[in-house]
Amino acid sequence: MRRKLFIILISLSVFLIGEVILARLIQAEQQRIEETNRYLALERVSTLRARVEGLLQANLLAIRQLRTEIYLNPEFDEERLRLISNSIFSDSLQTRHVAIGVGYVIQFIHPLTGNEAALGFDYRTAPEQLNSYEQALETNEITINGPVQLTQGGTALIARVPVFADGAHNIVISQVIDHERLFQQAGVMDSSELLVSIRGRNGSGREGPVIFGPNAIWQQDPVTQVINLPSGEWYIAVMPASGHWRSESGLAPWWWFFGTLLSALLALATAYILFNQQRLKRAFRTITQQARFDSLTDLPNRHYFLEQLEHYVNSCKRRNEQCALLFIDLDRFKEVNDVLGHAAGDQLLKVIAERLRISMRQDDLVARLSGDEFVLVLKNLHEPVHAQIQAEKILQFIREPITLNNQDVTIDSSIGIAIYPEDGDSADDLLKAADLAMYEAKNNGRGMAAFFSQKLRAKIEDQVRQHHELVHALNNQEFLVHYQPVIHADNGEITSVEALVRWQHPTAGLLEPAEFIQAAERNGTIRELGNKVLQQVCRDLPALRAAGIQGRIAVNISSHQFYDQAAVETWFAIMQEHDVSPAEFIFEITESMLLPDRERQRKMLLSLHDRGIQLAIDDFGTGYSSANHLRHFPISMLKIDRSFAVGVPDDHAHSNLLAALIHMARALSVDVVVEGIESAQQVEFIRHQCADLIQGYYFAQPMALAELLQRYGKTDASNTVDLNAATKKKGGVSR
Ligand code: C2E
Ligand code: CA
Ligand code: CA
Repeated sequence: MRRKLFIILISLSVFLIGEVILARLIQAEQQRIEETNRYLALERVSTLRARVEGLLQANLLAIRQLRTEIYLNPEFDEERLRLISNSIFSDSLQTRHVAIGVGYVIQFIHPLTGNEAALGFDYRTAPEQLNSYEQALETNEITINGPVQLTQGGTALIARVPVFADGAHNIVISQVIDHERLFQQAGVMDSSELLVSIRGRNGSGREGPVIFGPNAIWQQDPVTQVINLPSGEWYIAVMPASGHWRSESGLAPWWWFFGTLLSALLALATAYILFNQQRLKRAFRTITQQARFDSLTDLPNRHYFLEQLEHYVNSCKRRNEQCALLFIDLDRFKEVNDVLGHAAGDQLLKVIAERLRISMRQDDLVARLSGDEFVLVLKNLHEPVHAQIQAEKILQFIREPITLNNQDVTIDSSIGIAIYPEDGDSADDLLKAADLAMYEAKNNGRGMAAFFSQKLRAKIEDQVRQHHELVHALNNQEFLVHYQPVIHADNGEITSVEALVRWQHPTAGLLEPAEFIQAAERNGTIRELGNKVLQQVCRDLPALRAAGIQGRIAVNISSHQFYDQAAVETWFAIMQEHDVSPAEFIFEITESMLLPDRERQRKMLLSLHDRGIQLAIDDFGTGYSSANHLRHFPISMLKIDRSFAVGVPDDHAHSNLLAALIHMARALSVDVVVEGIESAQQVEFIRHQCADLIQGYYFAQPMALAELLQRYGKTDASNTVDLNAATKKKGGVSR
């Protein structure tokens, strides 16, 4: 609230400052205009002054000329005055007429017309005129009189100059000038915007009476100039008609309008920026919060946790301290999610997060890594056993019932413990170690804690080495394919041949799949391995056919090979490359491929079947698939796992189980292969159960292609296995 007020105040100040600046600007602009106006007026008044002076001088020049003429030849009459005057006074002058006074009385006038009334005028009867008359006589110079009221009517300016100034015989020329016409011709009346006034009657200067224009402007603040007369001076003044210099330019209101608008906008922008800065800060805070914390549990996320852990590990390094990293994974969380729904799952995660928060010490770190994985760092650890104790506590605490959907649920967890610096000296290494320890805990039976150990490290190193070895072996063509026939129980005919991979290890000798398939599945090399086997089978196939060995070739396909449709396409590409039809193959898969949530794999199986490959369920009986479920898949064969043949027929329980499985398979109308047949009694039992097909050491162990061709090729009369002689052959297998 206070911040808001602050922002409002700041914005208001911005507005006010804007207005003050605006006022200053407008004032300065008006001053500038005023000065310009004055300057223009000064220019104008100077011009007027010069013109008035010029015109006056022109008139006075004429009177001087007349004076010279009379002076040089004083004998003259009216006629001579007319002649001289006509040559001197042109129309361009503003001289109305000239009068020659002799001894204070006007004797001659030119032109006479219109001025008759003045003839015989005695200056001594008009004191004002007498004054200037005498002044002229006294100074022997031109004096300016008036404007004065003329006897013959009107007003005019009179310039007087004496020709002879001696006593009663003085001769004085009076030039009557139409001052108004003079002013007009000087341009005094030209401008309507500027008022012009002239003062200084009789040359009396600034204080004299006004002789032209409005009196009022002298009381204002006019621009003035002096007009110099032969005797005395006039003042000319101009003033705008508006009465002030500050011309009412229409701009000012617009200036105010736009200026105020601008100030207001600036103020708003300031407010906007300040408010948004707050919002930005807040947004930034939320973004960092979101980037660092898990939204469901409010615990730090993986990224932020690793950052914190890294810092902490570094400080442990400096201070030589120990710490423990606990990797906590909920057991069977997926089931809770599936059975009670995601909302309940989320609820459960929140409760667990809260329990972890409660169980940690104040400066310990806790975070949610992903899904149902949490981590806890126990800082400043004195003894590893304390980590064990803490882990046990957490296991207990997590195990306490949680009410979800009005139902009490208990969930177990497994905890992996890694100790700094023993198990890793970087955040990443510690996390990996704790993760592996957690898997160890799960393998050991869930609901418990396990330390990362050297044994575990050795195991991992082993796995890494294995991976390298497998990759090397693949590149080095160390894998071979052996074949084991499947025969018909009734006539000993070979119905199919199973391809089984072997690893010709450079130091360990010939290795069986049990020693490397799992590893290959774990590290992904199984894909390439599977392709290699398929390629080898394709290469071997022509020889088999040439030898007259019939039946499809069964190839084992690990569920890890079914990762995408591209893998399936690769198999077809291999077949095409070797010009082998898919109809030559049986793909053996395990029941896990048929689980309901394996929709992707189901589609791939269908595409295999559609293109002619037969599908067999391998190790049947060890998985969970019900006969009903199997119906949904295009299965042609079930291979009953060899564990069911063990002890048959003496072991009644096993025998019954095997019999039941055979019946179940027959009920599905698919071929049944019983694997692991090692004795004549077993063969007998199987025959009795009406099973068709058998595979086992009793007839043949897996063998190299050459041996297979040699034993069952065309030279061998029938391509059948002698069921009774099989035992004799047992020693002759390729091993
Ligand atoms: P599987 O598919 O059940 O293959 C049959 C296994 O049973 C073979 O072991 C075979 O030698 C053995 N066997 C056959 N008759 C008898 C018998 O009478 N008694 C006993 N005790 N064993 C018998 P092998 O070759 O060691 O293969 C083991 C497993 O490795 C196979 O079991 C199969 O799951 C996997 N495997 C083999 N080759 C490949 C392959 O190319 N790819 C994949 N993904 N897995 C393969
Ligand atoms: Ca198999
Ligand atoms: Ca099997």
